[in-house]
Amino acid sequence: MTTTEETLASCLFCRIVRKEIPSKIVFENDKIIAFRDISPKAPIHILIVPKEHRAKLSECGPGDAGLLGEITAGVAEVGRQLELDDYRVVVNNGAGAGQVVFHLHFHLMAGRPFS
Ligand code: AMP
Ligand code: ZN
Repeated sequence: MTTTEETLASCLFCRIVRKEIPSKIVFENDKIIAFRDISPKAPIHILIVPKEHRAKLSECGPGDAGLLGEITAGVAEVGRQLELDDYRVVVNNGAGAGQVVFHLHFHLMAGRPFS
């Protein structure tokens, strides 16, 4: 296998996308999947994940504008489906910023005050 193939085979969120690992899915279309964070930092904590692997936001270029639009539209769709008025959206980019899963994802958190 090439390094890229190995990454896609072993990547945790690629495996969730392929349904090899179970997750609590709240929304899915052909571009993205949204599921509940296994270790929630708020009463509602959803991860919005592109089905196509990107390691992190800073690796995305102008050609990824469509993909990034799908993710942010997915965030808004999840907010509507869960009837959320207020929520926080976070992207951790790089280990120094707290990223531990190197498959791009947006956190949607709600249900508690955020300062
Ligand atoms: P980050 O620190 O931005 O990379 O966020 C990774 C998030 O993935 C963390 O909030 C973890 O709790 C969450 N996480 C890790 N494994 C799983 C899993 N199997 N299912 C759902 N969420 C997960
Ligand atoms: Zn991946």
